[in-house]
Amino acid sequence: MSWFAGEVPRDGEDAVTELAAAARDVHVRDAAQILRPPRDELPYLRHDRADELVLDGGALAVEAGVVAGFEPDGGRGLEVDASGCAVVPGFVDCHTHLPFAGWRAHEYEQKVTGVAYEEIARAGGGIAASARALAAADDDAVLRQSRTLAGEMLGHGTTAFEEKSGYGLAVEAELRSLRLADRLGEQVAQQTTSTALLAHSVPPGFDADGWMDVVEEMLPRVTAETGATALDIFVETVAFSNEHLARIGRLAGRYGLALRCHVEQFATHRSVPVALEHGARSVDHLSCLHPDDVDPLAAAECAAVLLPGAELLGGEALAPGRELADAGAICVLATDLNPGTSPIASLPVIVGLGVRRYGWSVRESLLAVTLNAAWVIGRSADLGSLEPGKRADFLLLDGPVEHVPYRFGHNPVAACFVGGLPVFVRPDAAWRLSAGT
Ligand SMILES: [Zn+2]
Repeated sequence: MSWFAGEVPRDGEDAVTELAAAARDVHVRDAAQILRPPRDELPYLRHDRADELVLDGGALAVEAGVVAGFEPDGGRGLEVDASGCAVVPGFVDCHTHLPFAGWRAHEYEQKVTGVAYEEIARAGGGIAASARALAAADDDAVLRQSRTLAGEMLGHGTTAFEEKSGYGLAVEAELRSLRLADRLGEQVAQQTTSTALLAHSVPPGFDADGWMDVVEEMLPRVTAETGATALDIFVETVAFSNEHLARIGRLAGRYGLALRCHVEQFATHRSVPVALEHGARSVDHLSCLHPDDVDPLAAAECAAVLLPGAELLGGEALAPGRELADAGAICVLATDLNPGTSPIASLPVIVGLGVRRYGWSVRESLLAVTLNAAWVIGRSADLGSLEPGKRADFLLLDGPVEHVPYRFGHNPVAACFVGGLPVFVRPDAAWRLSAGT
């Protein structure tokens, strides 16, 4: 029994039907570690309590694709020998820019060799380049590239992810992007949600205010024609302002969408108080967060989504991850997978960066890609932790959890299960799975 990540995403209906039919009973035994929340039914766990996460060895029983319990003799069906392994919830990547078309590798080389972003942008690079690539690619080509990436993510343990529009930069193109996000969600093994990033870059021919009028006009179509559950904006000198953030916040409230925002990435704009005032679900990036905004953010029911991959590859400042965690924020890590600032699909790499760059413990970093990340996408009632009644999305790691950051760059995922079904099994771990009774 062995699958390879690239083969996992299948086309359309078949994948859904197959997964539903195969939702199965699994008995995972002899795990060295099983990562569990301190008690059941927590929507999230604030980071000053991350050390309460339980990491005991034992067994995990799955019935009909749902976690049933942790009794050593419980369970039947597929047997999994987890000796020497850690069992953790499937990772949730709550901030990606899938679906997109093409890459921008040449810009990365330009950036690291000292070409200014403004110069790259003047030459037609940046978000505009990705918008042109998306416009030039047909739907099948976009979905093919995105499915391949989703397969790579699955092979690195991502069992749920968020998608964003934002490379459309025109009404019909943004709607197309959101429809492609919906279709991608039907074609991959993961659970997905989508976010309308309608204020990403000011489209050519508009000023920022004029484009916001267009956004307001298109929202009824976004909610009627697509499955988007959140609204997003990029606040930066080169993009939109805090006033636009406030307007997006009001619109999110009016249309029942969660407010997400890209803020404090390249410079400090004091956007966080504005986002909190409008009930944001998350504030993302925070590399240039003002020190005075740490405590109010930590006290709010709003996640601090940190993107250390973008910080590393973009040469950006470092978000105050340690301060946010100590202050009790709902901290989250994500890849920010996109063709510009973070072409990283691996959450194990991001966990490694969280530990190294923010000085977080392994528990803190794992919490940030599981339960708290599931809360950001509105799915923590059924995803993000191993507890009875939740979906059996889990990973078999090839060593203890401490190895995830320590063996930086190594992919620790030996097997990946969604809804109790093994959708990825590394060939050297195939012996661990056997048909039970
Ligand atoms: Zn982003």
